[in-house]
Amino acid sequence: RINDTLGHKAGDDLLCEVSVRLARVTREDDVIARWGGDEFIVLMKGQLSSESIAIKAMEILEVMRDPIELEGHHLSILTSIGIAQLAEKDQEADAFIQQADIAMYQAKMQGPGNYRIFATEMADRINRNFRYEQDLKNSLETELFSLVYQAKVKAGGSIVGLEALCRWQHPDDGMVPPDEFISLAEESNLILALSEQVFHLALSQLARWREAGIRLVPVSINVSGRQLLSESFVPFLHEALLKYGIEGRLLELEITEGVLVSDIDRCIEVLSKLKALGVAISVDDFGTGYSSLSYLKRLPIDVLKIDRSFIEECDSVSEDAKICETIINLARNLELTTVAEGVETQSQLAFLQSHGCDLYQGYYFHRPLPAAQVKGLLDE
Ligand code: C2E
Ligand code: CA
Ligand code: CA
Ligand code: CA
Repeated sequence: RINDTLGHKAGDDLLCEVSVRLARVTREDDVIARWGGDEFIVLMKGQLSSESIAIKAMEILEVMRDPIELEGHHLSILTSIGIAQLAEKDQEADAFIQQADIAMYQAKMQGPGNYRIFATEMADRINRNFRYEQDLKNSLETELFSLVYQAKVKAGGSIVGLEALCRWQHPDDGMVPPDEFISLAEESNLILALSEQVFHLALSQLARWREAGIRLVPVSINVSGRQLLSESFVPFLHEALLKYGIEGRLLELEITEGVLVSDIDRCIEVLSKLKALGVAISVDDFGTGYSSLSYLKRLPIDVLKIDRSFIEECDSVSEDAKICETIINLARNLELTTVAEGVETQSQLAFLQSHGCDLYQGYYFHRPLPAAQVKGLLDE
């Protein structure tokens, strides 16, 4: 990207500066090589303890982070480091580099500015992910995905909404949790087909509940970035609502903060169209995105969902308590509804209620349940 915006000379200067900095924190007989693109390899001789490896990695991250001046711009490099240790003298170089590469990929997944040391579990995981990618494709055809529904309640316990959560019945491995397959589906193109299936499942369920004369409450669906920003999403949803005869007001979309700030202008466009369909918008995992808050003013948002990580210890004297309090106040000032997710205890509920949180979701009230069991709850 530097090549594109500042020109090739700047790109070359940057690569040069990177190697100078690497040389500064490595020893004279270490080898530094550019592996292509923006990837570098550092080869270090000798038996290093895991402590000294960690120190080395942090030195490199540190020295890279220092701003670089380039054509009047100040740039700072966030590095991801993967580390492999040569097992035996005659280990294949290719396999060795591949291990470092796998570890680097894991470091990247944790966010920039991290390092990871290769472990065999990482390779196992990659193999499993590869297998799952194939299996996802087949499972989409054979309809092995289903939804469970978790209630959103008022403090007194009355149900005012449901969140649809996807489940995968894997042919060999049994129930696979979404955290293990949603991101895989996102990396491949399968997320679009999977998400469409989720909408069909949820909307047909709403239609069935309506037919059975059950009190209907809005259902929230988690929407991935790829899906929200795809050209076909709004027309797809419009058609699906018509097909099942469901009003937009019975649908809420949960979108994570990261997606909303990734392309604000495009999101304003898409969300406005969704609002025109009557659909409500909820910011999922709020508080974990480390983003500026200005997007909250610009986007047509209805709900903030306080991330479970803040709820966990909100009832003890903690930073988390202050964060929850601040989010609730922020939401009130912006006239947004707050939902606390992952409420597990009476004392968490009491704390949140005393600060004016609107709605609650969590094992304390209800676990995610199959549709048949939810029916009983709504009838009550
Ligand atoms: P999320 O949207 O943050 O969903 C909340 C997760 O917390 C759910 O996990 C839910 O079962 C769990 N949870 C709810 N209450 C409690 C509690 O009191 N304690 C604890 N420990 N956990 C609680 P689940 O069902 O495993 O889903 C994980 C994530 O997968 C979801 O996080 C969501 O990001 C994603 N996901 C699930 N279904 C879909 C889907 O259909 N489409 C997309 N794009 N993502 C989905
Ligand atoms: Ca959610
Ligand atoms: Ca959430
Ligand atoms: Ca979460």
